[in-house]
Amino acid sequence: MLDLAVVGAGVGGCYCAYRLVTDTGPGDGIALFEQTDRIGGRLWSEPVRDAPHLIAELGAMRLHRGLRSALALVRHLGLDLAPFEFGRPENLVHRRGVAMRCRELPGDRIVEAAERLVPGFAELRRRHHEAEERGDRRRSESLLDVFRDQRDQTRVSGRPLDELTWPHALDFALGPAAVAFLHDTGGYDLRRSGENAATQLDLVFRTPPDAEYVTLRHGMQGLPDALHARFTAAGGTTRTGHRLVRLDKEADHYRLTFTTPGGDRHTLARAVVLALPPEALRRLDGLPLARHLRPALDAVEPVPAFKLFLVYPRPWWRELGITRGRSTTDTALRQLWYGGTCPATESTGPALLLAAYPSGHSVHAWAPWRGGPPHPAAEAGHAATAAMVEHAHTLLARMHDLPDLERPLSACRQDWTAAWHVWRPGHDPRVIGPRTRQPIPGEAIHVVGDCWTPDPGSIEGTLASADDLLRVSFELPDPQWHTGPPR
Ligand SMILES: Cc1cc2nc3c(=O)[nH]c(=O)nc-3n(C[C@H](O)[C@H](O)[C@H](O)COP(=O)(O)OP(=O)(O)OC[C@H]3O[C@@H](n4cnc5c(N)ncnc54)[C@H](O)[C@@H]3O)c2cc1C
Repeated sequence: MLDLAVVGAGVGGCYCAYRLVTDTGPGDGIALFEQTDRIGGRLWSEPVRDAPHLIAELGAMRLHRGLRSALALVRHLGLDLAPFEFGRPENLVHRRGVAMRCRELPGDRIVEAAERLVPGFAELRRRHHEAEERGDRRRSESLLDVFRDQRDQTRVSGRPLDELTWPHALDFALGPAAVAFLHDTGGYDLRRSGENAATQLDLVFRTPPDAEYVTLRHGMQGLPDALHARFTAAGGTTRTGHRLVRLDKEADHYRLTFTTPGGDRHTLARAVVLALPPEALRRLDGLPLARHLRPALDAVEPVPAFKLFLVYPRPWWRELGITRGRSTTDTALRQLWYGGTCPATESTGPALLLAAYPSGHSVHAWAPWRGGPPHPAAEAGHAATAAMVEHAHTLLARMHDLPDLERPLSACRQDWTAAWHVWRPGHDPRVIGPRTRQPIPGEAIHVVGDCWTPDPGSIEGTLASADDLLRVSFELPDPQWHTGPPR
């Protein structure tokens, strides 16, 4: 009989397990269960076969300096940060067959739209972030409240922003041609996104102007790995290869049924933390969890994404004056990151390119190239097809006007059917978020995740959800290194 079973060893589960074991001690036992044989979930850093000093970030890759919870945790764990390069002025924006340099792009049209939707947006945002930098939280929060009040009063054709999709609100503010331009040049899928306009505007507000981005020097997976190492050192146990399929109530405890490579296994626990994405929660049998979570499950929309990395014999992009960061295109590649997204190295040998990173509807453009044999030098477990590599290579050669571009040495691909989630129109994170914490009234079953927060689909959102749970349901005091409750 465990005191607590934490299920899911992504950053959310590892964080909860670490905080609970260090606060309460191993006691009658806290165990962490994970369906795969790896810790980290959507934080997944794979060394590249032909250049092991390079890391392919298969999942999350960046944080910005305004994300206080995530950065405080990184500092507390003693992990090294490194600059993360975004679009540099000399990088390319390739649209309708024509390549421009990023420096030729018009100014920030998203802020222009935000200003039209909520007059005074830019000034309020500037003052909010200045107060944040000074550490004046009372002031920064009151400015956030002013923004949220004004946003909630905004009407587009008589409807509140909360009822519209983000592309619909942008269309109203900037017109359809601008939305098409932002879709084609922004890297992320926009035109057909079903994302709630109010929550997206909130995210733009809380991202500092000219945000500076960082990554973990040795890979983003270092974060869950470090949490997990501390959990283990404090006496916690971990069972990988355990997929939770059923959760039942028995007297004053719960019976968890796992499928494992050796057959079904059962574990009893007095309390359960489910640090799982919505799709996994939906599939659980036994207690009617999905029924209680239905309003929350219906409130968010999964966004698919996939990443295709190519290793080239040398960093050919340097001859075009490009060193690091991102270029965008309206072709199926959508976003490419020179050198991948790991910190810059001086190496002159094989070079990594995150060659394609489509998300949302853009992933469907790859359907014709998914079949057929794997590329002869595809990474085991992350096999890109030969057709996919050839297609990406052809698009790259065309985009960079390099018809004789030498072929890649190897390839590596990761598909995510639900890379992250966005809020659908008509749902308010402030109402739904707290209801997911303990979905079945009276039952000691708790949910932690990245999607029912004001920062959906992010490490910061996951930590906010976990902190909220630990504070409210487990009555844990905030640790010393903590920066206070995120909003
Ligand atoms: C391509 C991509 C890019 C991203 N970019 C960024 C970024 O730049 N910055 C950022 O902040 N965020 C980014 N994110 C989002 C970020 O990765 C996630 O928000 C975060 O990692 C979620 O952590 P989690 O612990 O909630 O979930 P997960 O990491 O999904 O962990 C859940 C764990 O539960 C396990 N599991 C599932 N079902 C079961 C079951 N039935 N039984 C047992 N175990 C189970 C899974 O295997 C997994 O290990 C990105 C995500 C992706 C995929």
